[in-house]
Amino acid sequence: MTVDIHLPSIMKVGGGAISQLQDMLATLGVKRPCIIADPIMVTLGKVENITSSLSAYANDIQVFSDVMPEPDDRSIDGAVALVKQQQCDGLIALGGGSAIDSAKAIALLATHGGHMRDYKVPRVVSEQSIPIIAIPTTAGTGSECTRVTVISDSQSAEKMLCMGPGLMPKAAILDYELTLSVPYRVAADTGLDALTHAIEAYVSRKSNPFSDQQAIAAMRLIAPHLIAACKNPDDIKAKEAMMLGASLAGLAFSNASVALVHGMSRPLGVHFHVPHGMSNAMLLPLVTAYSLSGSPSKYAEVAHHLGLTCEPGSTGTHEDAHEKLIDFLHHLNRELDVPTMSSFGIEKASYDNIIELMASQALASGSPANNPKVPK
Ligand code: NAD
Repeated sequence: MTVDIHLPSIMKVGGGAISQLQDMLATLGVKRPCIIADPIMVTLGKVENITSSLSAYANDIQVFSDVMPEPDDRSIDGAVALVKQQQCDGLIALGGGSAIDSAKAIALLATHGGHMRDYKVPRVVSEQSIPIIAIPTTAGTGSECTRVTVISDSQSAEKMLCMGPGLMPKAAILDYELTLSVPYRVAADTGLDALTHAIEAYVSRKSNPFSDQQAIAAMRLIAPHLIAACKNPDDIKAKEAMMLGASLAGLAFSNASVALVHGMSRPLGVHFHVPHGMSNAMLLPLVTAYSLSGSPSKYAEVAHHLGLTCEPGSTGTHEDAHEKLIDFLHHLNRELDVPTMSSFGIEKASYDNIIELMASQALASGSPANNPKVPK
């Protein structure tokens, strides 16, 4: 089997790596950058730090800092107009997945026009746009290393999945120090999102030898450090592991796929306003339990890579490993205070009238078809 692998062409990794931004802009030939930032990055002074550090390099840096959490198509209109009007030749995306996904959509529309609806799956976005340097400030989505953007359609209330090599950032800066200010709830939701990416990529029907290795490395980094990174924000070792684990998980799923958890969580997120990582976490133990029979040996390997069992096959049975895996996923949700769906107000009665829409949106993303066990 031959697989196409897509990665950012330059990555700077480590505490303080953001100081390398100017070198990256110069390498990419970007002279008129626009910063696409989460508003909290202005409040925290990070945008000002960037503009002043680049003042000798570029004195006309544009800033769009109205990034919307879980962005929709309308939220990026102003930025698309700004980038076109100012003839910006590259974007610096600073924030969590919402800022990086917004930047991907802004670069695409500013370069090629149209509406995000025109680019959603099954269309493959192969057109190259102005380059993006992605600087994540959450350890979660891995969007800095994925050929994916997720933008909601404000008309149809669909979280549109857009995919293709043209959406891969040209460069990424993985500086865990930027995540030290993340509040507990965001650290937990984003960390659980990264874990979901690693597990889904590993068991996906589209997994391959490259994505498997990224997923294994991500699981081995995330499992022992997730709770510490959330409960002790000064634990530098845990924060660094989570940043690296989240990006590796992004590389894994972007070069394989996500599966049923993501297919179902996008409609939950958009219709019930559950943050993306939290909706994945709510579903992960249930969907994993449902899917075990589709790939018993791979799920036993997941348990092993999460540190729950000895080498799969050497001792114990798949059933033992599966039980430990499901227990661990429930334990993580309890430890990290993930609400149950019903405590979040998601009852059967509340989705009865939109269940068909949610199901059709889940199926349209293609993700459920990559699950080890495909729901009928
Ligand atoms: P986010 O970007 O929405 O950020 C969550 C919250 O954390 C926001 O309120 C933000 O202001 C705050 N925040 C971010 N960084 C901070 C910091 N350093 N200090 C303090 N506060 C900070 O959350 P996210 O989970 O990173 O991204 C979610 C979005 O990413 C969703 O729209 C989801 O669909 C998308 N997503 C994309 C991909 C992809 O591959 N493109 C993958 C998974 C999810």
